[in-house]
Amino acid sequence: MGGGVLLATAALPGIAHAAPAPAIVDCAAWGARPNSRVVNVVTRRPVKILVHHTATPNVDDLSRRAADDLARGIQNFHMDRRGWLDSGQHFTISRGGFVLEGRHRSLEALRSGRKQVEGAHCTGQNLVSIGIENEGTYTDTGPTGVLWDRLREMCAHVCSQYGIAPTEIYGHRDFKDTLCPGDVLYGMLPRLRGEVGGMLGQRLEGSSVRAASWPVLREDDRGPVVRAAQILLRGAGRTEVSVDGEFGAAMAESVRVFQAEHATEEVNGIIGGESWPLLTPPVRSGDRGAAAEAVEALAVTSSTRPPSDIGPVQWQQLLTAAR
Ligand SMILES: [Zn+2]
Repeated sequence: MGGGVLLATAALPGIAHAAPAPAIVDCAAWGARPNSRVVNVVTRRPVKILVHHTATPNVDDLSRRAADDLARGIQNFHMDRRGWLDSGQHFTISRGGFVLEGRHRSLEALRSGRKQVEGAHCTGQNLVSIGIENEGTYTDTGPTGVLWDRLREMCAHVCSQYGIAPTEIYGHRDFKDTLCPGDVLYGMLPRLRGEVGGMLGQRLEGSSVRAASWPVLREDDRGPVVRAAQILLRGAGRTEVSVDGEFGAAMAESVRVFQAEHATEEVNGIIGGESWPLLTPPVRSGDRGAAAEAVEALAVTSSTRPPSDIGPVQWQQLLTAAR
């Protein structure tokens, strides 16, 4: 539809429409404790959004009180158990569709459009991304409609305030060995990118909303990608791994040994966005060895010709095509 009156025009490049902020409950309003140390605020724009799930129960209580309780519970957990100075995430969205400020000053920084609070939601990404925690566990079910609506609005607003491209919306698992934000919510990220793009006046075509990513592998998975991972683990010194395409308990143990050796953040037997880059060295045509063998196996599975120079993006494409 053409011709509507735009709310405002954002000054930032690539953003045709400014997206208004949803109502956001600030730290004082949900009864946050004071942060225990100074919150680091940098004068720099974040360049991406990371979507998380809280891995808490999918409660039926959609009230504001439940949302406040959730925010306090997360803050207590992060401060008392993790030893952090405050909540780790920048924002939280409850199953009832309430958006709450996470770490103190996140809202002030967002309103400025040019500052970012250093979070603690994904090591390595805390100074370049906005972390949004979505209440629930989305491994085999999706979020409530109101949560989804607020997540879309919040992502559109964050993109519009900071000039972030809607294609720069990721899941926690894209960077770490974690199932977060759950298979179902993770699978909804292409739709999220497309809808956020639409809210910002951008039409994103099919492939642009499907960011290249590392497939997450876990126990009980099977198939060609597991087989490639087994070849790569053997190449990385885990020669006890058998190449049978079945991710069993013994393979999970080998992955944990690999993770411990590489000091990954989690030692949990899951191959995700932190272990894959460690397992996949660059490969050039003519190379021999485990990585080249894994490339060949993946290419055969998906009936594609592997590119002559394989870096992280080509690895992601090969792994995704063989799934
Ligand atoms: Zn997460």
